[in-house]
Formats: sequence, structure tokens, C-alpha cells
Amino acid sequence: ATETDYELIGKNEALSVYKPREKYTHKGTYGHALIIGGSYGKMGAVCLTTNAALHAGSGLVTAYVPKIGYSILQTSLPEVMVITDSNEDMLESMEFDLEPTVVGIGVGMGTNDKTVAGFTDFLNKNNLPLVLDADALNVLSKNKTLLKKIPENTILTPHPKELERLIGTWKDDFEKLGKVKKFTKKYKCIVVIKGAHTIVVQNDKGYLNTTGNPGMATAGSGDVLTGIITGLLAQGYSALNAAIFGVYLHGKAGDIAVESTGYQSLVASSLIKSIGSAYLDLF
Ligand code: AMP
Ligand code: MG
Repeated sequence: ATETDYELIGKNEALSVYKPREKYTHKGTYGHALIIGGSYGKMGAVCLTTNAALHAGSGLVTAYVPKIGYSILQTSLPEVMVITDSNEDMLESMEFDLEPTVVGIGVGMGTNDKTVAGFTDFLNKNNLPLVLDADALNVLSKNKTLLKKIPENTILTPHPKELERLIGTWKDDFEKLGKVKKFTKKYKCIVVIKGAHTIVVQNDKGYLNTTGNPGMATAGSGDVLTGIITGLLAQGYSALNAAIFGVYLHGKAGDIAVESTGYQSLVASSLIKSIGSAYLDLF
């Protein structure tokens, strides 16, 4: 594919979708993000995603995790509320008495059969705006009929391997983009093709992000993106604008963080700390 096939996402595009904060508002104005994920040994992913959703500006953030995650979340993130699954080590029941604005699901979740069953129930019962990442994508890749259950305008954020599981292999970027366009039409969704040049795709349109750097090739980097996009959806951004602005902010946070860490020492937590600077850099 050539550059002319895409619209570029730069500061002007980010500014054109940016929603300023109004004075007479309260946390309810900025939505409630629910992050569902985690399993034994992978609770850090949920910490990163919930913290990123907060730093992106979600009014409230709740984590839904296996029981094992309760103290981990409550100890590391005082701003995040926590509800727990019936299962100790992994997600299984996936039932909650909560009305979030949006759900981000999949980080650190694993693909155990019990979790797959819970996730299937969840998709059957809920029609909330969704961001699907990581193991949620892996589960969908193995059970493609489940893809028919995702609500319209769901955002999927696959890295290259996850994308390959979803759409199969491609011989060049042109074929990849074509396959993703077809996929987004078939399932009425938005796909964020993550990589050195992240592309947001919906129907026949592609938006190429211009921020980010190789320091972001590090554990948990994608979990932060999931949190940012979910946090933007909570604040009322449309799905397409949340995906576009989300990848921009994520990359810009990386570009700001790397100035003080260098490429090698850039870690996902540093990305979260720089989200605020990425917002400030817009003006
Ligand atoms: P994940 O593999 O799920 O942790 O996602 C990795 C995240 O880091 C995605 O948002 C990628 O776009 C970003 N990323 C990875 N490698 C690079 C790179 N070389 N340049 C810019 N961004 C990158
Ligand atoms: Mg990931």
C-alpha cells in the first residue's frame, strides 16, 4: 500500500477530535470504564490498562478480575474500583451488577476453556461499547462465529500475531489492508493494526498514525493503548475518534517519555505517566 491510501493522524487531526473539559461537570460526565481481564501471573496487564484509562480521563474506572487480583489492584491503584469473578485464578463467570459506559476486555485474560465460556456468555448478554484486545482477540480467532456477537463499532486492537490469527496471513501490506477492510465491513467493527506504523481501519478508510517510536516495543505497551482508547470512549468520543485520538496520544506519550528514558529503558508505566504531557502538547 502507498501513503496515499491513508489519511495521516497528526496533531491537527488529534486537535480536531479533542473534547475540552467544561467547567460545570463532574466525574459522571466523563463516563465509567470497565476493564475486564487478568489471570494468575498476569494481573499487571489489568493494572496498566485501568491506570491508562484513568490517565486518559475516564471519570470512573472499575477492574473486573479473578479473585487473585483483588489486593493487587486495590494496593497498586487507589483510584480504581475492583469487582471480582467467582473464580480464584482466572475469569469464569464474567457477571457484574454495574452499568459502565464502555468495556475494555482481554488483557492478561488467558484462553482457558472456563474463560472462553464466560466470555461467550458475556458477549451474548451485553451490548455495551467494546474494546477487544489480547486474549479476547485470541478467543475470537478460535471461535469465529462469536465475532457475529460483537456490537457495532467495536474496536479491535491486534498486534501482528493477533491480526494473523484473526484474518490469516498476507503476502504484503496491500493484501493485509485489503483483508482488514473486508473484515471491518463484515463485522461492522474498527480494527487498529498495531505496529511501528499503526493504522486505524474502518470500511474502506485507513488512518495512519504518525507518533510513536521503537522504545514502545516493550511489555505492556499495548495494554496501555487499550486503556487509553477505553478511557476516551468513556468520555463520549465516537468509536472512530477514540481509536484515532487514542493511537495518537499513545504514540505521543511514547515520544515524550523516550526523551528522558531512552529507547531501551522505556517501559509501559512511563507511557502512562506521559499521557498528561501528550494532552498538553496539543496546545
Ligand atoms: P502489544 O504488542 O499488544 O504490547 O502492543 C504494542 C504497542 O506498541 C502497539 O501500540 C504498537 O503500535 C506499539 N509499538 C510496538 N513496536 C513499535 C515500534 N517499533 N514503533 C512504534 N510503536 C511500536
Ligand atoms: Mg498486547
